[in-house]
Amino acid sequence: MTSTLDRPAPGAERTREVGVAIIGSGFAGLGMAIALRRRGETDLVLLERARDVGGTWRDNAYPGAACDVQSNLYSFSFAPNPDWPRSYSEQPEIQAYLQATADRFDVRRHCVFGAEVTAARWDDAARRWEIETTAGRFRARALVSAAGALADPVYPDIPGLASFAGTVMHSARWDEGHDLTGERVAVVGTGASAVQIVPAIRPRVGSLAVYQRTAPWIVPRTDHPVSPRVQRLYRWVPGLQRLVRAVLYLVREFLVVGLAKDRRFLRPVGRVARAHLQRQVRDPRLRRALTPDYTIGCKRILISNDYYPAVSAPNAELVTAGIAEVRPHSVVTVDGVERPTDTIVLATGFAVTDLPIARRITGRDGRTLADVWSEGMVTNRGSTVAGFPNLFLLVGPNVGVGHTSMVYMIESQVAYVDDALRTMAAEGLAVLETTPEAQEAYRELVARRSRGTVWLAGGCASWYLDRHGHNTTLWPDFTFRFRRLTRRLDRENYVGTPEAAA
Ligand SMILES: Cc1cc2nc3c(=O)[nH]c(=O)nc-3n(C[C@H](O)[C@H](O)[C@H](O)COP(=O)(O)OP(=O)(O)OC[C@H]3O[C@@H](n4cnc5c(N)ncnc54)[C@H](O)[C@@H]3O)c2cc1C
Repeated sequence: MTSTLDRPAPGAERTREVGVAIIGSGFAGLGMAIALRRRGETDLVLLERARDVGGTWRDNAYPGAACDVQSNLYSFSFAPNPDWPRSYSEQPEIQAYLQATADRFDVRRHCVFGAEVTAARWDDAARRWEIETTAGRFRARALVSAAGALADPVYPDIPGLASFAGTVMHSARWDEGHDLTGERVAVVGTGASAVQIVPAIRPRVGSLAVYQRTAPWIVPRTDHPVSPRVQRLYRWVPGLQRLVRAVLYLVREFLVVGLAKDRRFLRPVGRVARAHLQRQVRDPRLRRALTPDYTIGCKRILISNDYYPAVSAPNAELVTAGIAEVRPHSVVTVDGVERPTDTIVLATGFAVTDLPIARRITGRDGRTLADVWSEGMVTNRGSTVAGFPNLFLLVGPNVGVGHTSMVYMIESQVAYVDDALRTMAAEGLAVLETTPEAQEAYRELVARRSRGTVWLAGGCASWYLDRHGHNTTLWPDFTFRFRRLTRRLDRENYVGTPEAAA
């Protein structure tokens, strides 16, 4: 198929016609584009608001940013990289891998950078998605949203934050030009990003106050450099790297037994984490403050060898009193203590259960995805929504995982969406739409499998749950079961309208 990207549509000024429009160029958007390219499809466009591919790994360039899953598993199965320098790669290597993979599969020529999708509306008469972006309008037969679940930073509602006279930066919008040397720095939050930032900046700052609401569970990071000999072996015997990947996958999958089936299997992990804390923190008061009060696994289990030593250092302080307000030159906690501050780092996470892109996508009856999801996010297989024809979601609701590689889930979904697109072509369908019944059945399946999991019963509040306390974020079972569900399109759960009926 030839690209019709630059052909203006009749009656519309520079509206570009395209077969498949993909929002986002992170692992998911790139994975989708590559799947299309690999089967010869070229009538596609990637709409990316930033100036490069990479998503998460382009945006999270804070000091210490690294992956929590081994690179042999956290990479595309069809594009292994024998040259990973460490078992767990750091942000620059992962970003370089994504850039190289985009080049290798010739995807960049389909990217429109600086194109933030501001609105996408289904035109039922034309059977097309009308897409408005900051780089012009597009009209697409199918729309794939790969806009990311951890792409839009959340800024906490702290009184006085706007009046702060120093620097405020979110972990996902790091200001590389800002020198923290000798500064009094406040880090707000103790999640996955904070435990990487704190040890990375601690040696150069004057003082560091880490504001903790909930103590995370932390286990040792089994990271090590990959020797040139092993890299060569991976290059000569690709099967060996695939074997390592398979072993890593299986070992990690075993965690699901404890997280989702029987919490007794989490006890050994809890013991490892407690021993880690015991070994690394000598001060009993600090150790108490760093001890979580909920079941391990309820929130993401973090991995770090240097976070505890960093918060124990003489120039660091763990603050457990809540923040009452920010003043122009300080942070004040509810116990009345005022700490003079030069820079505030917000390691406060992302909008996950209230995805911004959902407010921008409007379906057949004029309602946005956000409206339809106001009482909870419902989908068929995390990928399609009744009333939103020819729309496919990647990393949609209940596709998240905390124990293994998101890339595995993304590849599962890409196969499903690709099968849907191929089905449309094979059957000559103009419109493909899932049924409300299929959606309801899937909602029940997810709710049933979520019951009794540590995320619901582990005694913590987390971003995994929506405001109704429902799990709308995580896949609550073994990931190979998700792969089985998404191996091919469940055609019986879809209504298709042939082109001829237009
Ligand atoms: C700091 C951090 C560490 C992580 N570590 C791990 C890990 O160790 N293991 C793991 O499995 N997962 C990890 N993740 C999760 C990670 O997000 C996923 O693994 C994966 O990268 C998600 O890819 P994605 O393509 O779905 O989303 P993203 O990588 O977020 O890409 C989404 C893209 O869409 C673009 N976009 C969004 N809205 C619009 C719009 N309206 N118009 C145009 N473009 C838009 C964004 O600019 C972005 O480029 C981590 C996430 C973060 C934030």
